[in-house]
Amino acid sequence: MVRNASTSAREPVAGVLEHAPQPSASPAVRADAHLATPHHIVVVGGGAGGLVLATKLGNSLGRRGKARITLVDCALTHIWKPLLHEVAAGTLRADSDGLDYFAHARAHHFGFELGQMNGLDRARRELILDPMVDPSGAEVVPGRRLGYDTLVIAVGSVLNDFGVPGVREHCLYLDSPAQAERIHQQVFGRFLRGHAEAGSAAARRLRFAIVGAGATGVEFAAELRHAARQLVGYGLRGFDPDRDIEVRLIEAAPSVLPALPERLQQATERALRDLGVEVHTGEQVERVTAEGVHTRSGRLLPADLTVWTAGVKGPAWLASLDGLEVNRLNQLVVDPTLQVTRDEQVFALGDCAACPRPGSDRPVPPRAQAAHQQAHLLARSLARRLEGKALLPFVYKDYGSLISLSSSTIGNLMGNLFKSITIEGFLARLAYLSLYKKHQISLHGLSAVTLMALANVLDRRRRPALKLH
Ligand SMILES: Cc1cc2nc3c(=O)[nH]c(=O)nc-3n(C[C@H](O)[C@H](O)[C@H](O)COP(=O)(O)OP(=O)(O)OC[C@H]3O[C@@H](n4cnc5c(N)ncnc54)[C@H](O)[C@@H]3O)c2cc1C
Repeated sequence: MVRNASTSAREPVAGVLEHAPQPSASPAVRADAHLATPHHIVVVGGGAGGLVLATKLGNSLGRRGKARITLVDCALTHIWKPLLHEVAAGTLRADSDGLDYFAHARAHHFGFELGQMNGLDRARRELILDPMVDPSGAEVVPGRRLGYDTLVIAVGSVLNDFGVPGVREHCLYLDSPAQAERIHQQVFGRFLRGHAEAGSAAARRLRFAIVGAGATGVEFAAELRHAARQLVGYGLRGFDPDRDIEVRLIEAAPSVLPALPERLQQATERALRDLGVEVHTGEQVERVTAEGVHTRSGRLLPADLTVWTAGVKGPAWLASLDGLEVNRLNQLVVDPTLQVTRDEQVFALGDCAACPRPGSDRPVPPRAQAAHQQAHLLARSLARRLEGKALLPFVYKDYGSLISLSSSTIGNLMGNLFKSITIEGFLARLAYLSLYKKHQISLHGLSAVTLMALANVLDRRRRPALKLH
């Protein structure tokens, strides 16, 4: 049976710390009480959007003393979320490929506070942070309050289990570095067991199920197949990666990547089947048990390990944030300026925000490129606001979607000259890699990213391509 994933909304910090929820009373300590400051902008959540925003604000306003910027995150390191499937499969290391918030903050003129936001006191303009404890239960940082003049909430999303019975008990969620690392440990543990039992009567097939064939599920299924083949190359015996490992991808919609163009869906499904992934579309999950995934059509898709990647929603605590408005997915409702509807001093961006999209009845989609664009806009807007100028409206530009199928990449690009073109192969791989490079350049600048890429190429010659522990 897979370990309970119900803690996914509250994560251990870089595998070391965990937060301890405060029962009711707000922590008495004011984390910034000793500081007399200019305008204080607090960004909560250092992910694809929040970290870019804090860095840009630090480099502009913080460096010139025009505002004090503080980033709060419940982890000590940042991993760009679209890379999590690689952490889970062991092809990327969360420990060495992560960015240290403290060091980054110091280099970019902002402060960093480790803490898990769990409440808001709008009248006093203070956010409430839970205490954080290490795995033995010892308190590492106390619960406290942090004052702000402007607050930006960028805490991302958690996976939506849609209330399906058994998901919390029997599935792992791929939605945070800690969860991805947990999946890696489970997956690798199963391979080690196969290795130890090789040739014995106990030896058996390894069966993985992934629920949700959006980009996350598709990429993880492909990466898992790739990792299994590589492990055999490192001498792990006990299984034939093509014959003894079953990877099942289960999707309720009639096709994989339901939100993307049909041509892309078909090409992706073909590529997955070529990789040996069993694709089960049109199968709605009814419940998950220790035996595997049971669908409404009455089928049992057997699995020793099930990973849930279907759908996202805002963390539950956003719904009780001192009266701020949320939609049915717990996202904070914001205006086009990214200001929340009920408080001018509070902004939200990224996955946790429901931002209107002109011409569509759906909000801006929860994607890294949306969070990235919103962070760039808000950095400009907040600087203008300090000068008494008007805030800028956010208009989302969809540049298309790229799906990494481990050894190949496929996707569509959208632009002004063409509505949508499908790309594959080397060009698609380059475009895919450029998404992450864009994020890195926003954080470190072009010359530092070039050096980092070079160092990475050299380092990869030294260390195994897979995390073998
Ligand atoms: C495996 C995977 C693959 C993906 N691939 C793509 C892709 O190819 N393209 C794409 O556009 N999108 C992709 N996405 C979606 C994309 O990652 C998200 O849309 C994007 O990261 C959202 O950015 P964000 O800043 O809103 O939140 P995040 O990047 O999730 O950052 C949230 C931050 O808030 C912190 N936090 C959370 N709760 C608290 C709290 N209570 N207190 C303090 N800090 C907190 C977290 O530690 C984290 O650092 C993928 C997602 C996954 C999981």
